[in-house]
Amino acid sequence: MSQFSLSSFAPVADQIFVAVAEPAGVNIGLVVGPEGALVIDTGSSPAQGAAIRAAAEAFAGVPVTSVLVTHWHYDHFFGLAGFAGLPSFGHESLLPWLSRPETAQAALDLGVEPSELVGPTVTFSLAKVLDAGGRRVEALHFGPAHTDGDLVVYVPDAQLVFAGDLLESAGPPSFGPDCRLRDWPIALDGILGLTREETRIVPGHGPVMDRMDAFDQRSRISALYGQVEYVIGLGKKVEDAYAAAEWPFEEATVRAALPVAYAQLAAAGITPKRQLPLLGAN
Ligand SMILES: [Zn+2]
Repeated sequence: MSQFSLSSFAPVADQIFVAVAEPAGVNIGLVVGPEGALVIDTGSSPAQGAAIRAAAEAFAGVPVTSVLVTHWHYDHFFGLAGFAGLPSFGHESLLPWLSRPETAQAALDLGVEPSELVGPTVTFSLAKVLDAGGRRVEALHFGPAHTDGDLVVYVPDAQLVFAGDLLESAGPPSFGPDCRLRDWPIALDGILGLTREETRIVPGHGPVMDRMDAFDQRSRISALYGQVEYVIGLGKKVEDAYAAAEWPFEEATVRAALPVAYAQLAAAGITPKRQLPLLGAN
């Protein structure tokens, strides 16, 4: 794996900071309260997690007292073992991911022993109020989207949202095989329901976003799914889909998303039908 580095923590709201962990470019959140701090996402290995914990503690001037993982992907989740001994929070779907072959393979690809990975000490299905060292923070799940268990962290006193990879500003959203394209806009409606004009949103990767950015990404993801339904309705096979419509993302993003979308629609019984020429209308 290429070299780990962690940027300094930069302020994004009152006593809330973000540092970027490379090589994945993942945003690490730090919510500082009077008596402790909450870290959001953990880097790509237990060693990275431990380094992030130490850097967060040195910066915040209070102990890190809890940690939350937004979803199972390696750059957010695999550092959790570096936070041993702390209460850790994640969606209940993280636990089954620990024993799946995709997770083990992702770990081995990074030089991490799958047996070193740990799950959160506290899991939940929909919502949980967290104590960030005396500061109220809410963790929410709006249904499957980027993965089956994305968590959004909302800090009401700062009008700040951590969106995990439900939103991205470093590049387009990541449409992996475990995403749920149809449901993704619904989860973003959940985020939009939390926001006001002044709300700021920290995506999983890239600079801070605002409400209009979230609206824009929601409409593009919804349009992507709609266009896939449209080209399937035209009878287009996946390899012919790109040329058959206009798309709300750049070509490489769409071409990567198409097989995922086709597979998901096929699982729902929606497949391209061969269009027979109409011979003699009656
Ligand atoms: Zn992700």
